Amino acid sequence: MIIQKTREEIELMRESALIVSKTLGMLAKEVKPGVTTLYLDKLAEEFIRDHGAVPGFLGLYDFPNTLCMSPNEQVVHGFPTDVPLVEGDIISIDCGAVKNEFYGDHAYTFAVGEIDKDTEKLLQVTKESLYVGIREFKLGNRVGDVGYAIQQYCESHGYGVVRELVGHGLGKTMHEDPEMPNYGRRGRGKKFIEGMVVAIEPMINMGTHRIQQHRDGWTITTKDKQPSAHFEHNVALVDGKPELLSTFGYIYDALGIESDEENEFRQKALVL
Ligand code: MG
Ligand code: MG
Repeated sequence: MIIQKTREEIELMRESALIVSKTLGMLAKEVKPGVTTLYLDKLAEEFIRDHGAVPGFLGLYDFPNTLCMSPNEQVVHGFPTDVPLVEGDIISIDCGAVKNEFYGDHAYTFAVGEIDKDTEKLLQVTKESLYVGIREFKLGNRVGDVGYAIQQYCESHGYGVVRELVGHGLGKTMHEDPEMPNYGRRGRGKKFIEGMVVAIEPMINMGTHRIQQHRDGWTITTKDKQPSAHFEHNVALVDGKPELLSTFGYIYDALGIESDEENEFRQKALVL
């Protein structure tokens, strides 16, 4: 059952989302060659606690860390490690935080120094597909409309859309109804309703959509060992339209990037 949120609850969820957004912005400055993902994990945990929240993933389904850290061919659910990042890596960082009982949960794939053109394109297209999907998250549409849009966009670039892992409703638990696949058929699946909040999160592979799970029970990698990207936003359905609760603005501030990609999904301007 999809749990509708009141306007007040959506504002609380925005608060939780923005703590995650700020955490990713803080990390954007720290992602560079030589840094370990375990160090970034420590920074994130401190930052989240300093902002009056609790890490959302730590202990959830027994996950041992604050961040899911998935470099290169890892898709999602990787552990932070003491292996330093190297120039040319990509690193998908997924972060959760809980405040006022509500979860924030989003992700960004960062370039470590200079990356090759093909990988840069994968990151760009995956991020664009996130907004292509969000645009379909509106009253009158269904779950399949979002998935269809993301899948068409990514496959038109020759990329593989991961099937086994999906976006989800978000609220007082991390994974609520409905599941939000990044593939699907137009007009199929559950109907969107006012006040629902979802995490939309394309996980897109440069090659095959096929994945495999490591023996650790968590880490997911691409079957062909080609890179994979992951971008995630938290979105509420307000007045029939998608309203972004999260932002990549803190990341762009940290990296000196100008972007207006989020503007069409905000009913009021976001002051960073
Ligand atoms: Mg996430
Ligand atoms: Mg998620």
